[in-house]
Amino acid sequence: MKPPIHTSDMVHRFLAMALDEALAAKREGSQPAGAVIASASGDLLSRGHNHVLATGDITAHAEIDALRQAGFAIHRGPPDGSWIMYVSAEPCFMCLGGIIMSPIETIVFPLDSPVGSPVDIVRHSGYLPARMARLAVVREPDIEIRERSRELLIEYYLVHDPDRARLLRNTKPPQDHP
Ligand SMILES: [Zn+2]
Repeated sequence: MKPPIHTSDMVHRFLAMALDEALAAKREGSQPAGAVIASASGDLLSRGHNHVLATGDITAHAEIDALRQAGFAIHRGPPDGSWIMYVSAEPCFMCLGGIIMSPIETIVFPLDSPVGSPVDIVRHSGYLPARMARLAVVREPDIEIRERSRELLIEYYLVHDPDRARLLRNTKPPQDHP
């Protein structure tokens, strides 16, 4: 079955919403990360952001927050087939694990991880190959949101992890990739 992919306007709108959540995390003093879950027809199911420094809960990442906020509804599935998660940047291993264990069939993020890609590593690991084959991954589909996500993370990492800030500074937009 073809994975559900939104139109580019909807992709832009939901990624902007994930970035708004990332800004909410930043205002709370946590790493700026946000996530939203929507149905294939564009209905919003839930949204979440990073609460790690605000709550002291090391597992309170944006994607986990959005999955928790989705509650029982995510188990029932949307009327139009499947769920799509938008994240403000590539998920970490913990969050990718949560996504793999959920009914989400598509993830979309505007910025690849600069320190190794959990998505690529899990894909090539042989772990749950059927499930990983079913998970559609849309990476860096929107240049404007990509740059906003990158700047937000650079600002955060300049204070908390300057090496990662440097790596993010050196990443090039997709059209410059060979
Ligand atoms: Zn995470």
